[in-house]
Amino acid sequence: MPFDTHNHTKFSFDAEMTVDEALKKADKYNLNLVLTEHYDLNERQENGSAVDFAINNYFDTYSSYRGDRLLLGIELGLDNRKDYIAHNRKIIESHPFDMVIGSVHNLQEFDLYSDRAKNFLSKQDFFTQYLLYAEHTIHQNPYIDTFAHIDYPCRYLNYRDNSLRYEDFPLLIDNLLFTLIENDICLEINLRLIDQAPFREGLESIVRRYKELGGRYVTIGGDNHTPDTIGTLYPLGLAMAKEYSLIPVYFKNRKRIIDEL
Ligand SMILES: [Zn+2]
Ligand SMILES: [Zn+2]
Repeated sequence: MPFDTHNHTKFSFDAEMTVDEALKKADKYNLNLVLTEHYDLNERQENGSAVDFAINNYFDTYSSYRGDRLLLGIELGLDNRKDYIAHNRKIIESHPFDMVIGSVHNLQEFDLYSDRAKNFLSKQDFFTQYLLYAEHTIHQNPYIDTFAHIDYPCRYLNYRDNSLRYEDFPLLIDNLLFTLIENDICLEINLRLIDQAPFREGLESIVRRYKELGGRYVTIGGDNHTPDTIGTLYPLGLAMAKEYSLIPVYFKNRKRIIDEL
């Protein structure tokens, strides 16, 4: 069974899902799961507390579940601050994670989810800054296994058309994809927006280009925070990978493994 490689349980600040609920739903859709709890040094919750989790407790709590059906990962918020990079590397090196997904949720102090200032920029200016920053930040954090949700900002923008399409930013997207390929980092097909045509077409244009530039491996992630989304959109992600002959993978003990479909 293939893996959905992006899932949040109650260890993430924004999820309440239990591992039993998650596995029950995954079973129904013939999927295995990688858990990827939030750890963002550059982000704060609304109440001011840190966006992190008790990592030793996480491994203790889920040790009896860990196996062929469930793997234990982390979703790391990436940043280009030297002290954050060092801290993130240390977290990864000192714990036995199966998989590390890297995310750009913030452009330094600028929160892509909540910061309204992004809507004062033109779409062209916003995505130019985002893509430049994301490429630079991946370059500085090459130890990740996959780059999550390249289309993350599309969820929270307020333009007439919030989709991110390859043809609108070809040089910047090429640079970002080259950086992934050079560093042997997968591209994630994030399922959050994949059932909405403009967003699916945007993501597909980037996935197509990833293949053209020499990319081979993708991860498919529901970014599930509740059981109800698990499995439902996975076939759309798989279809997109197949369309461009990309190979869906997951990571176990930080080793890339090809999904059994
Ligand atoms: Zn994320
Ligand atoms: Zn996530």
